[in-house]
Amino acid sequence: MDSTTLSNAAADFTAEQKEYLQGFFAGLAQRGLLPFVGQTATGQLTADPASGVANQAAVYFGTPVEDLCKEERWKYEENALDIWDKLLAHANEDKAPAADDLFRFKFHGLFYVAPAQDSFMLRMRVPGAIMTSHQMRGLAAMAADWGSGRVDITTRSNLQIREFQPRHIVRVLNMLRELGMTSRGAGADNIRNITASPITGIDPLELIDVAPLADAMNAYILNSRDMYGLPRKFNIAFDNGGAISVVADTNDIGFVAVEVKDGHDVPEGIYFRVLLCGITGHRQFATDCGLLLRADQTVCVAAAMVRVFSENGDRTDRKKARLKYLVDKWGVEKFLEETEKRLAFPLIRFAAQDCEPRREIDRKAHIGVHPQSQPGMHYIGVSVPVGQLPASQMLAVASIADRFGSGEMRLTVWQNLILPNIASESVEAAKQALLDAGLQFEAGTVLNGTVACTGNKGCKYAAADTKSHAVALARMLDERFAIEQPVNLHVTGCAHSCAQHYIGDIGMMGVKVGGEEGYQVLIGGGSDRDRGLGRELIPAIKFADLPPVMERLFGAYTMSRADDES
Ligand code: SF4
Repeated sequence: MDSTTLSNAAADFTAEQKEYLQGFFAGLAQRGLLPFVGQTATGQLTADPASGVANQAAVYFGTPVEDLCKEERWKYEENALDIWDKLLAHANEDKAPAADDLFRFKFHGLFYVAPAQDSFMLRMRVPGAIMTSHQMRGLAAMAADWGSGRVDITTRSNLQIREFQPRHIVRVLNMLRELGMTSRGAGADNIRNITASPITGIDPLELIDVAPLADAMNAYILNSRDMYGLPRKFNIAFDNGGAISVVADTNDIGFVAVEVKDGHDVPEGIYFRVLLCGITGHRQFATDCGLLLRADQTVCVAAAMVRVFSENGDRTDRKKARLKYLVDKWGVEKFLEETEKRLAFPLIRFAAQDCEPRREIDRKAHIGVHPQSQPGMHYIGVSVPVGQLPASQMLAVASIADRFGSGEMRLTVWQNLILPNIASESVEAAKQALLDAGLQFEAGTVLNGTVACTGNKGCKYAAADTKSHAVALARMLDERFAIEQPVNLHVTGCAHSCAQHYIGDIGMMGVKVGGEEGYQVLIGGGSDRDRGLGRELIPAIKFADLPPVMERLFGAYTMSRADDES
């Protein structure tokens, strides 16, 4: 019996029939099928996806429909995973979506970015930040033929292509599928790209290769309809405990590999700590919640936590809808108890101080030539200024990966690129090929550690042209100063903080100053062992006035710093 039939027959149900239906819906809820069953347009007789109880009053995840915020009501009215007919219609008519569909299109990674641009931006998923030369070539063709002619690497080691017209969106999604990629769930209130340490599996310092876990997490999400339509967006990261950070502490859930030595009440070996509720735009890092997990438990625990969040998060107020606010309301212990109810194994509480300390992070290891754990093999970290890679360079790196490596490439949260699996005898030729393509790989520049959000060239919220400003500042500083210690410059266009300005050595957030583009400037932020929120240095300054101030700041730093002080 489908939900329409149920709606029509609702008035005739006996108490016994209603009891039977409650059990029926509870069974569906346990199997994670209710978000589909529950989301009918009529709302007459649906199941509350949270409780599995059939009801006649319109309730969505335990919240009366009249109390839902606008976006939740749109989710309730139509499941955004089921709008293929709308995507086709918009492509056929070459028209932009209305506000509710504009939100639903983001479930497919399609962002209509008016008024900044009159076109779609496509955000993909690159699980674990690993992709192939074949995929890079296909994306280059898409970008050149229908889009902006370049790809942008994001701070979630993901990819975006801009300027697709509505008429192209269906062919773009189809081509993505042919490349073995997807954009499903890349935007709106979904689990974003699963990040992993970018040299995992080739990192001489790592404790465990986390690429299979990132892949498994991604596959679990893609195959589970109840992993979509959360109260708000959700970030998950896997840290291999090795040389390069994945900034796990900026995620809603960060799994960090650790070693436990003999002498405790768990067998010695490699486990994961679980960090919860990172949301640096709200000035909060993820913190250790006291759990110790085996690798094979991580995906199950993440899925259980997502379900607890989905069923209990706030769907009435977008400002209070992230995981942090549920955990603040309940406390960590209640959140873990609810998580445990959805698991087939008990959670192990284990003190963080009984684990071995995390190995040192090498902030220079994401750029330049470095040995891999495989004897005789190297990776090259390639600088991609603020993540912008034109189609010609996309083709060039694909070709270099094929000729000198294994055809594989990695993306980093610092918006750069890594080419792995290059044999010692091919390193020099690969370096020359990169230089010939106009790509740099020398460490020790501000530009390598500079990240910037989209800015006002493509985002309506931006108060400034972040990418151009970030590149101009970094180039100016690189010309005047020799930087031995890495310096991270994070430039974000508004308080949404997509470029995480609070964790930069220097953080900048776009503000209007007397009608002109300018920035609030912060200093002293960091992540991982250097964790800290940046402190305000300048509340507001026009961009035009910023270069000499930065020059003085760097001059003072380079003259007075002690040893390798950051
Ligand atoms: Fe847009 Fe603000 Fe995010 Fe930058 S930080 S991309 S301006 S929403």
